[in-house]
Amino acid sequence: MKITVVGTGYVGLVTGACLADMGNHVVCLDVDERKIRVLNEGGIPIHEPGLDVVVKRNVAAGRLQFTTDVAASVAHGTLQFIAVGTPPDEDGSADLQYVLAAARNIGRLATDYKLVIDKSTVPVGTADKVQAAIDDELGKRGLDLAFSVASNPEFLKEGAAVEDFMRPDRIVVGVSDERAANLLRAIYAPFQRTRDKLVVMDLRSAELTKYAANAMLATRISFMNELALLAEKMGADIELVRQGIGSDPRIGYHFLYAGCGYGGSCFPKDVKALIRTASDQGQDLKVLQAVEDANDHQKTVLTRKVLARFGQDLSGRRFALWGLAFKPNTDDMREATSRVVIDELLARGATVTAYDPVATEEAKRIFGDEPRITYAQGPMEALEGAEALLIITEWKEFRSPDFDRLKTALKQPVVFDGRNLYEPALMRDFGIEYHAIGRSVRA
Ligand code: NAD
Repeated sequence: MKITVVGTGYVGLVTGACLADMGNHVVCLDVDERKIRVLNEGGIPIHEPGLDVVVKRNVAAGRLQFTTDVAASVAHGTLQFIAVGTPPDEDGSADLQYVLAAARNIGRLATDYKLVIDKSTVPVGTADKVQAAIDDELGKRGLDLAFSVASNPEFLKEGAAVEDFMRPDRIVVGVSDERAANLLRAIYAPFQRTRDKLVVMDLRSAELTKYAANAMLATRISFMNELALLAEKMGADIELVRQGIGSDPRIGYHFLYAGCGYGGSCFPKDVKALIRTASDQGQDLKVLQAVEDANDHQKTVLTRKVLARFGQDLSGRRFALWGLAFKPNTDDMREATSRVVIDELLARGATVTAYDPVATEEAKRIFGDEPRITYAQGPMEALEGAEALLIITEWKEFRSPDFDRLKTALKQPVVFDGRNLYEPALMRDFGIEYHAIGRSVRA
């Protein structure tokens, strides 16, 4: 089938590449000329494991193209996936300007039937706005063209995006007509050969499903983080509590890890947007407001521990940081806890040496030429002469470091672990002063 994907970010590029891999002819459009240039030169503008292989394979096969040419992209696809950003507006609501701009382009330039599919995370009712925007543009041209609007929220996880897209748990599809449902069934058939994973529903339910999923996951994290703070005060170990409750199939093990707060481009903005949507309807989402507040507080948990240990004034002290990305296997630093931690350390007079396997370039873009931040080539290099180590991201390579080397490289063997990577008892045996989240060392 002929498919256009609007937006070549984490979602759009993965969607385009994976759909091309199933034999479709895909054109990916972006307004960002740099991204399109990089892609057309054979590069990948983001870090996403396995994506380069799929992109290269399909470009070579002539099934995947990249363009900034809006007219060509609208002309190409019967299916037009919209996968542009929906960043938070000042009031927390999702900013729909990019989604609606994409919809308007389609209405302005389409000459035959189009199925317009919202893949971006958008508030309930957006499909109506997309429909109205296209109608309006068609009206200006005096055209009465058949088109459908569908909602197909994306559930991929950065860092495992290709795998998630190729082998999804479920594919949620919101439609208002059979033609759209049939096209989406056909397009997704190759991704669900073992069992039917398509959950077909109305547009509004599909839109709400995406927010409900992210809100539930964020809730589990904030719940565990608050319990971790309590566990610390009570001399309990949150890791044991996690195992104790996760074994209950009604609860399950996933997403129960205490840490230094969630970040990324989705959870923070989607929780905010859902709170905002509800308040527009005169409803307070009290649980979700608490989830957000708890997470804001949790992002400062490591620096609070640092200040308690080293005092309020950190002038003249340098700290090592492991991990800048908001989670492993990505270079994405949107709403990353590392940003909150670095800002606070700098504000207290400290300097920082950071190491991240892939996010250094992104950090340089964000922090510019801030002289108080330096970047190390490897994890051990970051430690040399630093006051203490702060672990922000649970990259695999941090899980089993050379503890003897770590101990001698640091000025003092002090570790603040925001991801609970090590056993407190082991750290004690190594003679490392270990501050984790919600864990107490028992003699
Ligand atoms: P992104 O910021 O990485 O990419 C968005 C892209 O859209 C950019 O390259 C931008 O230049 C382009 N764009 C903006 N306006 C455009 C237009 N009018 N025409 C063409 N291109 C345009 O965003 P992302 O992380 O891929 O997220 C996209 C959407 O998917 C968001 O709504 C997000 O909430 C949702 N989502 C993201 C993830 C994730 O893990 N990143 C997962 C599920 C859902």
